[in-house]
Amino acid sequence: MSYHSTRGRSPALAFDDVLLAGLARDGGLYLPEQWPHFSKEDLASFAGLPYAQLAVRVMRPFLDGTIAEDDFAALVAETYAGFDHAAVAPLRQLGRNDWLLELFHGPTLAFKDYALQLLGRLFDHVLTKKGQRVTIVGATSGDTGSAAIEACRDRASVDIVILHPKGRTSEVQRRQMTTVTSTNVRNIAVEGTFDDCQDMVKAMFNDQPFRDQLHLSAVNSINWARIMAQIVYYVAAGTALGAPHRAISFAVPTGNFGNVYAAFAARRMGLPISQLVVGSNSNDILARFFETGTMSMAEVVPTLSPSMDIQVSSNFERYLFDLFGEDGTRVADFMERFRRDRQFEVGETMLAGINRLVQGYRLNDLATTEAIRQLYQETGELLDPHSAIGVAAGRARRRDETTPMVALATAHPAKFPDAVEAATGIRPALPQRLSDLFERPERYDVLPNDLETVKDYVRQVARVNA
Ligand SMILES: *Cc1c(COP(=O)(O)O)cnc(C)c1O
Repeated sequence: MSYHSTRGRSPALAFDDVLLAGLARDGGLYLPEQWPHFSKEDLASFAGLPYAQLAVRVMRPFLDGTIAEDDFAALVAETYAGFDHAAVAPLRQLGRNDWLLELFHGPTLAFKDYALQLLGRLFDHVLTKKGQRVTIVGATSGDTGSAAIEACRDRASVDIVILHPKGRTSEVQRRQMTTVTSTNVRNIAVEGTFDDCQDMVKAMFNDQPFRDQLHLSAVNSINWARIMAQIVYYVAAGTALGAPHRAISFAVPTGNFGNVYAAFAARRMGLPISQLVVGSNSNDILARFFETGTMSMAEVVPTLSPSMDIQVSSNFERYLFDLFGEDGTRVADFMERFRRDRQFEVGETMLAGINRLVQGYRLNDLATTEAIRQLYQETGELLDPHSAIGVAAGRARRRDETTPMVALATAHPAKFPDAVEAATGIRPALPQRLSDLFERPERYDVLPNDLETVKDYVRQVARVNA
């Protein structure tokens, strides 16, 4: 199987090259040229499999021989053995046909671990085989850097440098990054803002000689392998609740559209999904699109659910590619127009087609707090702000009470203790694995907000030249 770009102007690549490339050279995102399909018998045989075994069955067709099957099975087993719950992605019942899929049992307590923990291992495996190394560089406002660091720590072929704005992350967020003292991990506290950090990372990627010399790479959410790994928990939840004999609906708190795109992928592969609800916070560009068919850029406002404070969802392009019948030229034109006009719309017919499956719903911070409070009173569950948006959106938009609605819980409540405490009066405790976080030694370097200084630092720590 090979992969093509959503903009249609890059050569097709095999899985291992797509993994390392991330973004296609024409600016597009990679997708499989042919989608694997699971029959009803396949899906029925998945019910009850341990998570790691199911994961191999679901992902195997995407590799197309670029990674030996035994090696892949070992990587997958090792990945999910490090999770805190025997079921890896357990379902919890909130009410009749009302379910929560807990995706916070990985090392950093957020759903990104489910894909990134595997991605780090896949990177290392493929790079070792090719005799190459990479330097991963990224910027974080605090909430997602730790998932990338945990994914890359101690990987022999990878060095990772993460920039965060000094003094502007929460202490838990900083400590989740800076207490990882593996030799291949470097944290830089930049004397500046998150935007300064992000601008420096962009500048490093735009400096072609620097990029080539250091083999710069990223593990961001446009990487196909992340989508691939996220398909697994939809299939796990769906088959546990009765698929293929019964249809399932999902509600997904959404930022970059990567998580929800994996649901479209699962459906395309045969999982009977009857409804998808896309939950947004006040940065509601997606909710508005699914209501009106118009997508228009707005300013990002900070909210209680920072991982969804996003203006333009990069993975939406994959969805457009599907909507446009895989016409890369049409997607490229569309993206070009969107960049120019900061807005686009799809016609009424297309919107009606979209709404047969997808609905959007938004909750501002007040509504989010109210949802956390109400869900706690009703079910006894403490939900983080992102997860609460998922549950509340699913309840608000569900069309059919007889179909199970599964809301994705994307973060552990202890990751966002202030919001949870404000809503419920209860401060959620960190789980066992992080209970000594405040006693662990930290390591990070403080650097001025100066591109050349940061580049010199990266040159020194990267071992590509060694
Ligand atoms: C990243 C993240 C999201 C958004 O996921 P996307 O794939 O970007 O849509 C939601 N919740 C949490 C806790 C996250 O970390």
